[in-house]
Amino acid sequence: MQSGIQPLSTDVIHFMAAGEVIDSFAAVVRELVENALDAGATRIVITLFPAHWRIRVADNGSGISWSDLQRAASPHATSKIRTQQDLQEIGSLGFRGEALHSLAQLSELEILSCVAGNDEGWRVTYTPQGEVCEMTTIAIAPGTIVSVSNLFDNWLARRQGLPTMAQQLRQVQTTIQQMALCHPQVTWQVQQNDRDWFSIWAGATAQQILPQFLRELRPSDLQELRLKVTLPQDGTTEVVSSAVVPNNHPSSLYLLLGLPDRCHRYRPDWVRVAINGRVVQLPELKQTVLAGFRRTLPRDRYPVCFLHLQVPAHQIDWNRHPAKTEVYLHYLKEWQDQVL
Ligand code: ADP
Ligand code: MG
Repeated sequence: MQSGIQPLSTDVIHFMAAGEVIDSFAAVVRELVENALDAGATRIVITLFPAHWRIRVADNGSGISWSDLQRAASPHATSKIRTQQDLQEIGSLGFRGEALHSLAQLSELEILSCVAGNDEGWRVTYTPQGEVCEMTTIAIAPGTIVSVSNLFDNWLARRQGLPTMAQQLRQVQTTIQQMALCHPQVTWQVQQNDRDWFSIWAGATAQQILPQFLRELRPSDLQELRLKVTLPQDGTTEVVSSAVVPNNHPSSLYLLLGLPDRCHRYRPDWVRVAINGRVVQLPELKQTVLAGFRRTLPRDRYPVCFLHLQVPAHQIDWNRHPAKTEVYLHYLKEWQDQVL
């Protein structure tokens, strides 16, 4: 993020999957949390005020400089990519430069931010076009607090098309739980109307995270393993202890499994697949996991499994859908073989 926020050129925009990123309460949380994670945050506090359609996400990440705050909500403005080539090598969760701009259009957007080492931070409000409306200095700790208020106030048709608030809050909870599994180093604190709703404490790996919300599980009901994967030339796999594979090994696979004699479920609701820090819809890999358990689980019972692939950036195309839950993964067949 060193070189600052810049608008993308029309050539690059032309190559991005078109579509609206903000279509629900959970989408706001997803986008703001992804920004916090891209900024290196280890502590994220999310506060929801459902009656006011208000969401606030506070992080202890890198903060946003004065000059970047000017452009943060401009259309297609991002610090994460510049060129069409960069689109093939996405190493961050965000890259479209659209979330803050959409939020400025669909709500009242306010950002408070301070870069570590600076004496003061800034409070900025934006116009619906994403231009700075008001900017004042404030004293805050390093990091960023983004507030979105009166979401969809001028887009009532969109609000009416949404599921009930209770369902949306469940989606928010699921979104946060999935993020926490992918980023176990982060502590999450989630509030509703300024009262604690739930927290997830940081852990060394997802093994310490999952039992925090699947309460019937204990860490000892779970087993984890990491494989280094070499694709595709020789397809070799090497089993190593989780302490040995650095998290940044170009291809690796992390598997967290409920031991089949201790836990299984009536529905396949806890088989999740993630790639490079984000849970995705990849039915082929989900089926592979289910197939792998077929002989060890009783009939009509399903495993608990979190599978996280670390894939070199050029082997995955995030650009299939604006919400980035659907992806194109190269060497899918080889990955399925390794998982099995
Ligand atoms: P994208 O994440 O695709 O780049 P966004 O509209 O979500 O686009 O954010 C625009 C830019 O604002 C980001 O590229 C980043 O530089 C900056 N930004 C947004 N949120 C944060 C945050 N919480 N901490 C630091 N920088 C942020
Ligand atoms: Mg973003």
